[in-house]
Amino acid sequence: MLVYEGKAKRVFSTDDEQVYRIEYKDEVTAGNGAKKDVMAGKGRLNNLITSRFFELLMDAGYPSHFIERLSDTEQLVRKVDITPLEVVVRNIAAGSITKRLGFTKGESFRQPLVEFYYKKDELNDPLVTDDHVKLLGIADDVEIAELKRQALAINDHLIALMNRMNLDLVDFKIEFGKDKDGHILLADEISPDTCRIWDKETKENFDKDVYREETGSLIDTYIHFYNKMEAL
Ligand code: 5GP
Repeated sequence: MLVYEGKAKRVFSTDDEQVYRIEYKDEVTAGNGAKKDVMAGKGRLNNLITSRFFELLMDAGYPSHFIERLSDTEQLVRKVDITPLEVVVRNIAAGSITKRLGFTKGESFRQPLVEFYYKKDELNDPLVTDDHVKLLGIADDVEIAELKRQALAINDHLIALMNRMNLDLVDFKIEFGKDKDGHILLADEISPDTCRIWDKETKENFDKDVYREETGSLIDTYIHFYNKMEAL
């Protein structure tokens, strides 16, 4: 049974109450749905890429909701209650932080920056402080610290993987959820839809910015990225 449909995925219940099946769609959106297209093969690529990242993270001891990839476009995941925060980690200035705070695109940060955005389409996912997160009743101090700790650990690991592909991890967005025992688990996806990734030398984009900025073919870019993952 369909339990949730988002912009890029459908979530279905299974015979096991604690397990969901996720189906990746071919829809591509940007700017909170302002720009929208269907691209054949996009769901498959994001499913293959996300599944591989979750497997590599699992092998390195970072648990997530991921159980296994079922097919080209589907995976089985543990059921979690999604925490309504987009957790963004930034290593290099790009995107909204260049506009909001005036950093120059391409500037490296002395240390990774963790930001929280409140997941609420009607409000356009605003940036929120720790105090806002507490006031909204989304997480307490201990949980906020745990979200930041996990986000930074995942960042360290993803940077190491990208280094092996000769790529820089500029920034990324992840989401977390709570399982039935209240444990905070990495959820959602890790793909070129949710990361900014640049070639170390040419600074060529390997992410959704090619679609946002209309600088190239999204499908060709994602295929190129997936092929590079063979190095991992
Ligand atoms: P920015 O805040 O610069 O727009 O985004 C920072 C990073 O988080 C980028 O890698 C971007 O892809 C990711 N990100 C932020 N918000 C969203 C979102 O709503 N959906 C997706 N797929 N990625 C997001």
